[in-house]
Amino acid sequence: MTSGAVEAARTILTSLHEVMASRSNAQAKLNTVVEVIGESLDSEVCSIYLLREGMLELFATRGLAQEAVHVTRMAVGEGLVGTIADQTGTLNLAEAAAHPDFSYRPETGEDKFHSFAGVPIVRRERAVGVLCVQHVEPRRYEEVEIEALQTVAMVLSELIHNADLIDEENAGALGSAQIGPEQLRGLTLVKGLASGAAVYHQPRVTIEHVVAEDTEAERQRVILAFERMREQIDRMANQAEFGVGGEHEEVLETYRMFAYDEGWTRRINEAIDSGLTAEAAIERVQQRTRMRMRQIDDPLLADRMHDLEDLANRLLRIVSGQIGTAASMGLRNDAILIARNLGPAELLEYDKRRLKGVILEEGSLTSHVVIVARAMGIPVLGRVRGLRGVVREGDPLLLDADQGTALVRPSPGVVEAFDTRFARNRERQAVYAGLRDVHPTTRDGTRIKVMINAGLRDDVANLNLTGADGIGLFRTEFQFLVSATLPQREKQTRLYRDVMDAAGDRPVVFRTVDIGGDKTLPYLRHDDGEGEENPAMGWRALRVALERDALLKVQARALLEAAAGRPLNVMFPMVAEPWEFDAAKAVFEGQLAWLRGQKKVLPDAIRYGVMLEVPALAEQLDLLAPKISFLSIGTNDLTQFLFAADRSNPKLAERYDWLSPAILRFLRRVVRMLDGTGVDISVCGEMGGRRLEALALLGLGIRRMSITPAAIGPIKELVGKVDLAEITTAMEGWLASPPLDLRAEMSAWAAQRDIHVD
Ligand code: PEP
Ligand code: MG
Repeated sequence: MTSGAVEAARTILTSLHEVMASRSNAQAKLNTVVEVIGESLDSEVCSIYLLREGMLELFATRGLAQEAVHVTRMAVGEGLVGTIADQTGTLNLAEAAAHPDFSYRPETGEDKFHSFAGVPIVRRERAVGVLCVQHVEPRRYEEVEIEALQTVAMVLSELIHNADLIDEENAGALGSAQIGPEQLRGLTLVKGLASGAAVYHQPRVTIEHVVAEDTEAERQRVILAFERMREQIDRMANQAEFGVGGEHEEVLETYRMFAYDEGWTRRINEAIDSGLTAEAAIERVQQRTRMRMRQIDDPLLADRMHDLEDLANRLLRIVSGQIGTAASMGLRNDAILIARNLGPAELLEYDKRRLKGVILEEGSLTSHVVIVARAMGIPVLGRVRGLRGVVREGDPLLLDADQGTALVRPSPGVVEAFDTRFARNRERQAVYAGLRDVHPTTRDGTRIKVMINAGLRDDVANLNLTGADGIGLFRTEFQFLVSATLPQREKQTRLYRDVMDAAGDRPVVFRTVDIGGDKTLPYLRHDDGEGEENPAMGWRALRVALERDALLKVQARALLEAAAGRPLNVMFPMVAEPWEFDAAKAVFEGQLAWLRGQKKVLPDAIRYGVMLEVPALAEQLDLLAPKISFLSIGTNDLTQFLFAADRSNPKLAERYDWLSPAILRFLRRVVRMLDGTGVDISVCGEMGGRRLEALALLGLGIRRMSITPAAIGPIKELVGKVDLAEITTAMEGWLASPPLDLRAEMSAWAAQRDIHVD
């Protein structure tokens, strides 16, 4: 703001402060406001239009005919006033009638006025009215005056809200019409359909007080907030989860740049000087930047704008003390969560009954937040560019993760069509539910074991719902992720016992904790407190467990006690060398010996197994095989290591295909190496839950899969249509001389046999 604008705004604000504090009614206040503004800006006309019943109604005016008050009404998008509301933008015209949207209203007597300037009155990012000035002399208003008007519009927004002058619900509806429906495209991360209102994971702050009582105090508040925000950004940059390079680093660099930008702090301070509160000043500056940026059509800049929005919102949350995420405030209706990215623990904080879908600007197929969402049955769309620029808090959304799209502010016709698809989807689900008691067997008579992946207590219900053969992967770290502190042994025992009770005769494979990577625990920090460069390849899973062996000992005791009198299956993650398996097993055996010494009831039998996730292990499988009872291939991690492609990096989300000959040949080799050793082999990565990939796995000799519960029905259906001998031969041919596009080739092969694979 220029010093002139500061002065002009301050003069108006001082007068407005008195008006607002006065005991007169809202209409009288508005009447005074238009006088004050008109006078200060030396404008013959000053008018306020407010939204009522979806129309912009003239509520108060100085200079136009008083008979027009509460009579002149404009639709949103109609005339200059309607255009300002429609676009939440400013107009500054020397000759109003020359503008293509000008609509003459004779009852107002405005024909003698030439120049026109108007700004939207915004509440919760939506225009709820328009403030405008007009002048006889044809002249463009100066920037100073426009800025003063914009500041005043903020104050008006508070006055209007406090006086209940507009129907805010209606404003929401108007907001939808205002910017119309839009379609977003992204990458399907978890299939499914959902509808609900947009909820920002990091909610936007609602500003309650605009005019400051004590300017110096407001200035101090902003200084403190900036300090805290800078600390947060610096800390984030040092955190493991952000240390993975790529987009995160770029984003943080930009954040840092904005956070330390002196121009930004100066503009906020100037806005405070003009009489605004710290919150209003931040928002005021942001509004101005938003309006300027809207005129620049550059996607790169638009991205940076989102970063700045993010940061301004963070600053607002700090200054106003509204610091929780949307989860901490609770969801009130069916919601679709909007975020740049999320951690698995953050997602788990949400009320499952209300959370219907997630849309992320980033995200990748095998990141753990997506795995958790899949387990929760929540559709997720990722890699949606410009998401936060299009969707506003509360916007109605239809998420069609099957098609990789989301509709923002859909029209009624679209909602109806979507409902039809919803119904069809439900029918399909009913068909899958009907397969509950079917034991999946191939056409040539081989029984295929399909089990579920689980990790939360509630997941276990899926065993009965799907009729799965057991739990092939129980991710024990999920309990750690949802706790604020390290779960005590008794708590662990209770969970494991409950899970085994619920599973009955069906096997449960408990994987020991796999923390680190994208599953960070705030309460388990590294010794050196520093973030890791490459957490997925860093100090995680068994590497943590063997070094902090107290953790593994506690878990071993909890598992052994929970399995008293019944069989126990223990699986170690991220084993790279056979000795790691030996060391981990020794921890269990040590605990077993202790329990035996205490004359406790022991498990009937203990089967030890490993996950094959690190390619190096494949080179020593012959040495490991005699020691283990089973091996489960974790294709999520295995793929990232085979391709050297971070599974959480959104830029690589679509780069490598599970149906690549490299992966398939690798899997075939592992299957062959274990052939005849008596080691049970299975696949528990996300790959197995996708039909075409599952078909490939069957062709490679995999007879046991552990998959996300929602995939059990589709995979059972698939198994019933497959002739194993036929797919095995076909796979041999494809791997001997791989076609350019194996996915396309296999899809065609399946289609010819009436096997549905999508
Ligand atoms: C895997 O890596 O494939 C796996 C199943 O384990 P997680 O996804 O939990 O790392
Ligand atoms: Mg893994």
